[in-house]
Amino acid sequence: METIRNIFCVGRNYVAHVEELKNEVPTEPLFFMKPTHAAAFVETSPVIQLPKDQGAVHHEIELVVQLQQDYDCELPLEELVGSVCLGLDLTLRDVQSIAKQQGLPWLAAKGFRNSAVLSQEVAFRDLNWWQQLHFHLLKNGQMQQASAADCMIYPLPELLAFCHQHYGLKQGDILFTGTPAGVGPLHAGDALELYLEDQLLGSLCVE
Ligand code: ZN
Repeated sequence: METIRNIFCVGRNYVAHVEELKNEVPTEPLFFMKPTHAAAFVETSPVIQLPKDQGAVHHEIELVVQLQQDYDCELPLEELVGSVCLGLDLTLRDVQSIAKQQGLPWLAAKGFRNSAVLSQEVAFRDLNWWQQLHFHLLKNGQMQQASAADCMIYPLPELLAFCHQHYGLKQGDILFTGTPAGVGPLHAGDALELYLEDQLLGSLCVE
């Protein structure tokens, strides 16, 4: 992966996940960010340290794209997006619940060290290819989350356009596109495998 510039993330982008956390389906994409220091690459760091004593840490598997050019609405998606990988948007869920209740920012819940886990990447082909992508997460060999790009509430072109319009979007930026249903807590010793179609793009252990 080329150097990461900004880490943008989208919340509540799959209906079944919105329902499992008892949130409302948003009327526009819900964006948040992580510091670049949150990035953890499973190819070089297959053991990921979780925060301790702050309550549950949940896994959220997500399709992640990286831009290889500055956003330009005239460019076809395959020129704009260089690569796709799988990410884990690790979340301190108890910390996030308190932040939501109190109207506080999500940084503490979403931006801690190693909270943006990234797999090996594959080259982005085109929108048609993207729309047919399926992905899943195994935890200790058991299916935990599984979905597909075409289940997103806001599809990739809309997310990119929205991000560009409101926050700017340039070469090197990455975007976590939201998690499907099935999020749940991680415990020390759990082994995770991230699959795009039937291809294992990343495997890691948490401690
Ligand atoms: Zn997420």
